[in-house]
Amino acid sequence: MNRILIMGGDVLMVERIPNEIVNQISQSVDIVEVISDFVQLKKQGRNYFGLCPFHNEKSPSFSVSPDKQIYHCFGCGAGGNVFSFLMEMEGLSFQEAALKLAERANIPLHINVSQRKTSSNFDKMIEAHELLRQFYHHLLVNTNKGQEALEYLTKRNFTREMIDHFQIGYCLNERDTSLKFLKSRGFSEELLEKTGLIIKSETNHQYFDRFRGRIIFPIFDMKGHTIAFSGRVMYEGEPKYLNSPETPIFHKGKTLYNFYHARSSIRKKQSLVIFEGFADCIAAYGAGVDNGIGTMGTALTEEHVHMIKRNAERVILCFDADTAGQNATLKAGELLQKAGCTVQVAMIPEAKDPDEYIRTHGSDAFINKVIGTSLTFMAFKMKYYQTGKNLKNEGDRIAYIEQVLGDIAMMDNAIERDIYLRQLANEFSLSLDALKQQERQLFYMHKKGLKKQEQQNRVPISIMSQKTTRKAFENAERILIAHMLKSVPFTHRVQKALQDIPFNLDDHQAIVTYLYGFYEEGNEPDLTQFLNFLNDQHLREIVADIGMISIAEEVTDREFRDYIKHVVNRHKWLKIKEKEKESIEAERQNDVKRAAEIANEIIHLRKSL
Ligand SMILES: [Zn+2]
Repeated sequence: MNRILIMGGDVLMVERIPNEIVNQISQSVDIVEVISDFVQLKKQGRNYFGLCPFHNEKSPSFSVSPDKQIYHCFGCGAGGNVFSFLMEMEGLSFQEAALKLAERANIPLHINVSQRKTSSNFDKMIEAHELLRQFYHHLLVNTNKGQEALEYLTKRNFTREMIDHFQIGYCLNERDTSLKFLKSRGFSEELLEKTGLIIKSETNHQYFDRFRGRIIFPIFDMKGHTIAFSGRVMYEGEPKYLNSPETPIFHKGKTLYNFYHARSSIRKKQSLVIFEGFADCIAAYGAGVDNGIGTMGTALTEEHVHMIKRNAERVILCFDADTAGQNATLKAGELLQKAGCTVQVAMIPEAKDPDEYIRTHGSDAFINKVIGTSLTFMAFKMKYYQTGKNLKNEGDRIAYIEQVLGDIAMMDNAIERDIYLRQLANEFSLSLDALKQQERQLFYMHKKGLKKQEQQNRVPISIMSQKTTRKAFENAERILIAHMLKSVPFTHRVQKALQDIPFNLDDHQAIVTYLYGFYEEGNEPDLTQFLNFLNDQHLREIVADIGMISIAEEVTDREFRDYIKHVVNRHKWLKIKEKEKESIEAERQNDVKRAAEIANEIIHLRKSL
């Protein structure tokens, strides 16, 4: 249950705004009104419906309940209260969302989001970056000293809109202007050295600006804070791009360029495009790709994949056409596919990179001929495996076919498998039946080897996977939680009836654990308040979904016993399955006594169902 642990910094932020004020805000704003700014809503019965802003759809499955002050999408599972709506929609932190809503409701709320006066080094480092970002941007767009850099960018197809959107700036070609600027605002040299913004000279031990004379590209984290910079030389000079080093606030393996700004577009389209660097990402944005993100010149990490998977189903990889780029495409694609993403590959012709392609062929060609004609990941691999092989040579040809067959065997979708097998058969004039037979063999070999690992890895990451019909125990758990959300005594009653038996779904158990904590703190049942308390978007979505269930005011004793029985029986049933396995094992070892014991236990369990 990793999810609960990955709550991030939001916990601290919630504490900074007193609960009374958060409650005052939620009582003063109307969720229907706020969401109407983004979605056209129509009233139907007690609720409002509209097209979901978080996924593409043609008929409305997004509903808003004015009574409960929550929203939920039956299509993609998005859901929550008015705070989480703004957080998701505009990529805000809780604090920022609260600030916006307080303003709307005319409630005075004095917190400073970008320049919080806290004393931790972490916050100070971010503040230094925020100040410099504004300073560098100002130098570029408003001053004579930035004129040359601005012209340089304009010549390279950067529009003013792009410069503002990406907050591009310029660091003067002077020894320590940035240092002086930050020192005058109370930052110490020691702290600034740790941020990598200044460097100590080895010869005279004086500090100087890292990025002097460079065009500055700020790098933002998922909350929109500036955490690093990349500086590009204008003319001659090495390196062409200079990045901030790894610091306490900047980790390349956890940072994706432009994710913060592209996030709402990514959620809406349920797809994103990954580029190898920020230059490609910016050029693609200029060409009309507003769901593009970039790695920071490193390979895609598990952390990146996790961030991506939480926001989009479909990923298009658009890396450089050179060997390094193609190798990186293969690795990234495999990682993403393993996580359950649908991977496509946009190939750049003529061994170019996206930026160069757009400059020579224009935006339309890039959108239509590159992004628009993305290959499936399998089709990419079939091309990729040919590199370095001479397919006229029999040995190379066999090696190639085996490599492709191995990959086809691992595909989940039978229709797709069939398509690629036919393609392979046609291309090399082979018998389709023979290929199929060999592919099946590889499939079973692979299955045997992977079975154990697969069972451990199968975590339902995707909210989409919950759209299947629910089992009786799951429904019972949902109805119990729906009542628990409305009543403290009912919650105690469930707690008592279940004793140590957990809810069967991990997410449900996580929610009730939070709920116990929520009530223990003395809170009254309040859906909106509880959603804020949760601090985990995935759980919030489930709670919003459950909150939408219409339930009767009262639960009869019989119904109650029924629901509890479903939860408990599922638990027992899983135990029986486990025992049955043990029993088979005991029989195999000819342990007659043990087998009889287990058989007895099974009978006992079955009777109690
Ligand atoms: Zn949706």
